[in-house]
Amino acid sequence: MVTPPTLNAFSFGCSACGKCCNTPPALSLPELFRHRDLFIGCLAIGRVPRRRTGERLRTGNHTSVLDESDVAAFDSIARTLLHHANGETFSIVAQGYDYPSLARCPALLDDGLCAVHLQGKPVTCEVVPLDPLVPDRFQHLVLAGRSQSAAYLGADCIQEGAHADEPLLVANGRIEDDGATNALSRRRAALELDHAFWGRAVFASLRRGLFDSAAALARIPPGGFLTISIVPALLAVAGASAPCRDWCIDFIDSQLALIDRSIAQAMTRRRLDDRHVTQELRGFANAYQRAKAVLSIPLTRNKESGDSAFATTVEAYLRGASLSS
Ligand code: SF4
Ligand code: SF4
Repeated sequence: MVTPPTLNAFSFGCSACGKCCNTPPALSLPELFRHRDLFIGCLAIGRVPRRRTGERLRTGNHTSVLDESDVAAFDSIARTLLHHANGETFSIVAQGYDYPSLARCPALLDDGLCAVHLQGKPVTCEVVPLDPLVPDRFQHLVLAGRSQSAAYLGADCIQEGAHADEPLLVANGRIEDDGATNALSRRRAALELDHAFWGRAVFASLRRGLFDSAAALARIPPGGFLTISIVPALLAVAGASAPCRDWCIDFIDSQLALIDRSIAQAMTRRRLDDRHVTQELRGFANAYQRAKAVLSIPLTRNKESGDSAFATTVEAYLRGASLSS
């Protein structure tokens, strides 16, 4: 029997060097609740290209021309995890926020290890170096790009082809590593829950002021993200029940203290390029204070969602990770 050739293969072996831990990660809202004393939360809004049949995707020496089933695979992810307005597609995810001048995740220890590894690090970090918004059959393009990117250069953890000393991660349009398959599926499931519990509500609340305004959309940098306060997501879940509201207030208190500490440390660094970040953090703090004032008014029963099944579901979603620490 002739063994078929291995196509688009990449191997991956993480030595935990910490090189790619150069920014705070994306987190689900429950993960952010769980790590509320470590990560300052924000919403990151980005454009996601819509794929077309016949489109050529190229990274390095890897090229794919999309057929109808490829586009259907991209569309299937977009339907459950992304948002559409005026012919464009957008992602809205919860994200850790910190001073870019630090060039490190706040959980990165000096020995390169992760401070929250044992308490359950964000699933995004387990997915590294794959991308949950890309169908499995195109993860080789993600790896081709990342192997050449600054965050991974020098670590040599992503190698093209099969290697005896590193496990095969992708080949022939499949994820070959069971742990990576599991992490991808958990991250996509978490994104789906975020989308359902607050993503759609946040998108609707920002529709007129952002997504329907070409001038406002110009604030999303090409290939990057617009960061805004995470308060709209909190307001979407807080109304489900009194416990959800109390957890949101508790989260806000932790975040206000963390923002204070972060700004105080920036003041001692005295860097000019930190100033706009400090300004944005103060904006986040103001938004938290306003939200806390609103949430601190006890809800009458008829102002709560009134849907006890919905309340139970939102509580279970937030409790999933938020209250275990
Ligand atoms: S750069 Fe590579 S080896 Fe280093 S921590 Fe990241 S994935 Fe692991
Ligand atoms: S949480 Fe841990 S694994 Fe994730 S980016 Fe930060 S230091 Fe790295």
